[in-house]
Amino acid sequence: MTHTATTTETTSSAHRKTWHRQEIEALFQLPLHELLFQAHSIHRQHFDPSKIQVSTLLSIKTGACPEDCKYCPQSARYDTELEREQLLEVEKVLNAAQQAKATGATRFCMGAAWRNPKERDMPKLNAMIKGVRAMGLETCMTLGMLSPQQADELAAAGLDYYNHNLDTSAEFYGDIITTRTYQDRLDTLANVRSAGMKVCSGGIVGLGEEQKDRIGLLQQLANLPIPPESVPINNLVKVAGTPLEDVADLDPFEFVRCIAVARILMPTSYVRLSAGRETMSDELQAMCFFAGANSIFYGEKLLTTANPGTNHDLALFERLGLAPEQPRQPLYYDATAQAPGVATAETPTDATVSASCKTSQCSRAEHV
Ligand code: SF4
Repeated sequence: MTHTATTTETTSSAHRKTWHRQEIEALFQLPLHELLFQAHSIHRQHFDPSKIQVSTLLSIKTGACPEDCKYCPQSARYDTELEREQLLEVEKVLNAAQQAKATGATRFCMGAAWRNPKERDMPKLNAMIKGVRAMGLETCMTLGMLSPQQADELAAAGLDYYNHNLDTSAEFYGDIITTRTYQDRLDTLANVRSAGMKVCSGGIVGLGEEQKDRIGLLQQLANLPIPPESVPINNLVKVAGTPLEDVADLDPFEFVRCIAVARILMPTSYVRLSAGRETMSDELQAMCFFAGANSIFYGEKLLTTANPGTNHDLALFERLGLAPEQPRQPLYYDATAQAPGVATAETPTDATVSASCKTSQCSRAEHV
């Protein structure tokens, strides 16, 4: 066992430092309580440990996706008996957003099962963004790959966050998805950043990957030019009909380790418990919150997989002495600034947009 990663080291420069694989391996090798102590100490330096950010996720276009992500029930390639649905009407989306706000959500995430949005869809998407924002909710979308022009258009409509997960390590990626490359994903994240939006990006564990792949995923995320403001960590939801329906379960303590290491590597990011929370015990969720998770999705559906009911979540919050985080004052994020999350007094322009995040396994797995 090694104890090389210290709290001082990681908090002083973590969001700008380059993380080396050996450092992350050392964190994973720590005794669990030592790792939890370090992660929780860092968490308290950047966040109120009694507050959990709450987002709601709505699938605005379901199923029939041409991509082949092996974990995803929305892929047209797998027979999962998922009910397909065309892009929803704007009014229906806005009604759902209103309900989400009434149940305490501060961010409304909209996910569409596409390889990428088509030009014909953009007016509707823009109207959804404007309508949800007018309610005082933060907006997030996950729509697949974005061109620079599409990213600019969504940012101009007022989209706060864009979710696009890296899913796993670059090395294991080809075992899970063949219809788009890892570089495609990195390019979309770069386009989102260039457009001035906040980035929500994480991955899925329990895909049958090895620990080195979980390390590789977290290393990729932490070493992005600016780490994602929101980092969803999904635990695979095994859906019958997908190629991964029989993959072995991940040890829950290994899942907790992933949360804790994500917290240490990305101390100012929201780390989200995403897909897979429904099968977690309350005790495991509590341990994840201690390890640094501070964001969840509310609601009974996480795109297409079950999610703990809102009432159960509220009861758990009460038992743990936690509370939903209230909406923050808008931060204005300058994509040219040196550090993430820097608030300025500037009025948002095309190059700056308001902030603070979300996301989901495809909240489109890929979108949670
Ligand atoms: S994860 Fe997203 S891109 Fe992949 S199949 Fe599912 S909906 Fe399509």
